[in-house]
Amino acid sequence: MESSEVQFFPADAPLAVLTTQPLDRVLDYRAPEGGARTGDFVEVPLGPRKVLGVVWGPPESDLPRARLRSVNRVLDVPPMRDELRLFLARAADYTLTPRSLMLYLATRAPGLFQGQAMRRVYQPGDALPERMTDARARVLEVMRAFGGAALTIGEITRAAGVSPSVVHTMAAQGALIECETPRDTPFPRLDPARGGNALSPEQAEAAHRLRDQQGAFGVTLLKGVTGSGKTEVYLEAVAECLRQGRQALVLLPEIALTAGFIERVEARFGARPGEWHSGVTMTQRRRLWRMVGQGGVQLVVGARSALFLPYRDLGLIVVDEEHDSSYKQEDGVLYHARDMAVLRASIAGTQVVLASATPSLETWVNAESGKYARLDLHARFGRAELPEMRAIDLRSEDQPAGTWISPSLAQAVQARLDAGEQSLLFLNRRGYAPVTTCRACGHQVQCTDCDARMVEHRFMQRLMCHQCGATAPIPDTCPACGAEGRMHAVGPGVERLEEEARNRFAQARVAVLSSDLFASARALKAQIEAIAAGEADIVIGTQLVAKGHNFPLLTLVGVIDADLGLHGSDLRAAERTFQLMRQVAGRAGRAERPGLALLQTHQPDHPVIRAILSGEDEDFWRAEAAERRALGMPPFGRLAAIILTSPKPEELFEFAQALASRAQPLHRIGAQVFGPAPAPIARIRGRHRVRMLIKAARGVPLQAAIAQWLDQLKCPHDLRISVDIDPQSFW
Ligand code: ADP
Ligand code: ZN
Repeated sequence: MESSEVQFFPADAPLAVLTTQPLDRVLDYRAPEGGARTGDFVEVPLGPRKVLGVVWGPPESDLPRARLRSVNRVLDVPPMRDELRLFLARAADYTLTPRSLMLYLATRAPGLFQGQAMRRVYQPGDALPERMTDARARVLEVMRAFGGAALTIGEITRAAGVSPSVVHTMAAQGALIECETPRDTPFPRLDPARGGNALSPEQAEAAHRLRDQQGAFGVTLLKGVTGSGKTEVYLEAVAECLRQGRQALVLLPEIALTAGFIERVEARFGARPGEWHSGVTMTQRRRLWRMVGQGGVQLVVGARSALFLPYRDLGLIVVDEEHDSSYKQEDGVLYHARDMAVLRASIAGTQVVLASATPSLETWVNAESGKYARLDLHARFGRAELPEMRAIDLRSEDQPAGTWISPSLAQAVQARLDAGEQSLLFLNRRGYAPVTTCRACGHQVQCTDCDARMVEHRFMQRLMCHQCGATAPIPDTCPACGAEGRMHAVGPGVERLEEEARNRFAQARVAVLSSDLFASARALKAQIEAIAAGEADIVIGTQLVAKGHNFPLLTLVGVIDADLGLHGSDLRAAERTFQLMRQVAGRAGRAERPGLALLQTHQPDHPVIRAILSGEDEDFWRAEAAERRALGMPPFGRLAAIILTSPKPEELFEFAQALASRAQPLHRIGAQVFGPAPAPIARIRGRHRVRMLIKAARGVPLQAAIAQWLDQLKCPHDLRISVDIDPQSFW
């Protein structure tokens, strides 16, 4: 029922408003005095409250006019463009999310009700001060130095070293003129004409192709090993977009990466872009939201939610590290930012660049089938070469119990220490030890609210549940059998690996990079910079280090447990392991010295490990694609997960069974229904969890069938259902 037609509703004409309130429908109102147009942001009464909404179109009910309440007022915000309205509606339909929630995502900025916030400023007046004191002369001097620009009282008093009363007196005498300007000012202009780096022939060809495609919808996979200059190349696409006067958006998977990226933008274009992620202040949010709509910002760098901003004219979206699992939002609205970027781009006539060294299988297949264009960068930039990769077969290493660095790996680390080079030991496990057990009775300490073991964090001196974040003291007495002093830590986490590295290489400087060890993004950034500057010999890290950081002195990567990701029942276990190992190995030898990656494994002959070692990426994707095709799994078939949770297990199972027995709407489209079954993590924060999985062919109306299916039963009061279309995780 969405039309892209903008309609004018004269005063008192009925119209439909979508609000940000949790309702699954639009509400009808009467247009306010002066009328309203489709897309206008409005304030409407709802019960006793005033809420934010957008005029969505003609009325949807046939209530008589007299029964409708009137829109209070149209807000002083540029109207929502059709493109965004359509995007929100289609994204809602795709993810089976109420539209109101989508609108909520698109209005996450303060001050929309207030209109433009103004501030008082001063400009030079025509009159001279009645008496020229030193202070007054200094003020005039400052005004001249700033070329007559409008300055706030704070700016004037600080620059001139005078008290506010001096400014007030001068204004009263006409020597300064007081006026109001909008508080939110445009961002400094980026200059696409400033020269970038000279590109290699391969880079130049890719940049040329990206530049040529602009102006219409299209998706390009930009594939290149880490360090091949993907960023360098897509910044040229950004430059072209800016030249055409359109806006660009670059999505990054991790806030920790934005600081470095922003510096590169500044070096390339001479000014900083707008930033949108959970780390920016409310004032910055308000400014960016407004400027995006007014065209006062040319480039936005952000997290996935930056996709929902009201761009005036979006010409390019770059999704960097497009395979990264953090692009899938796993709570609230379950959406995949990469897929939503493609959806928005198709509506807005925008180019999309998906950049990765190890693309997702979905994207690889889309490029293979010709649906997406594909550009490859084969060489690392300059003299840097890809690291050599080898397995360490743990079955033939003579390794003492309770240690995780094999003799072969230790030898390689020692060689780097002797040469003054850095080593990275990679283990994707936070904390000290994943399991705490009692030697007397074998009891394992569990979280009281979740189906999960408590993980020891020695740094915090607590046990912690990685599901709900609950912590508890490390017990000295076994909670089950009461034995004293028999609790011990089993298995390694990064903190324990650090301990082993310090014992083993006493003279080395050891640094740990794990997200939970840093109080702020700034502290983390400082540590990353210190490492890059050579202030550590051995770096111990979780998957945090796999993402895009540049450590020029690093020449050895040791993967402590390459088998860790292989065992999951997860559809993407192989793909994830492949991506992660490749990314981590890519940290080695980024500058002039060659790198070596050593993978400790018990299964050197596992097909995934072999594919990682061989360097034949395309073979891996081809084999993985063939397997998924044979099974009808994504991207060749479609999945939807239904997760039901409740504090009451009996009610939960009963309801899930009842749903399963009414699956005709799903069967009608040829879909299969699996489950209900207890989820792999069967309880979180005291809520029991049951999963169902729906598998369908491509091209069937899956979402409509699911909606129809779920509509049949009324959901009990404390039971929650969430629908995860194209699920990425299966816990
Ligand atoms: P990727 O995004 O593929 O990992 P980057 O664009 O970050 O690669 O490039 C890796 C490193 O090489 C960066 O330090 C970058 O500044 C440098 N680099 C890449 N291409 C060029 C170039 N044409 N001229 C100068 N430096 C380059
Ligand atoms: Zn817990």
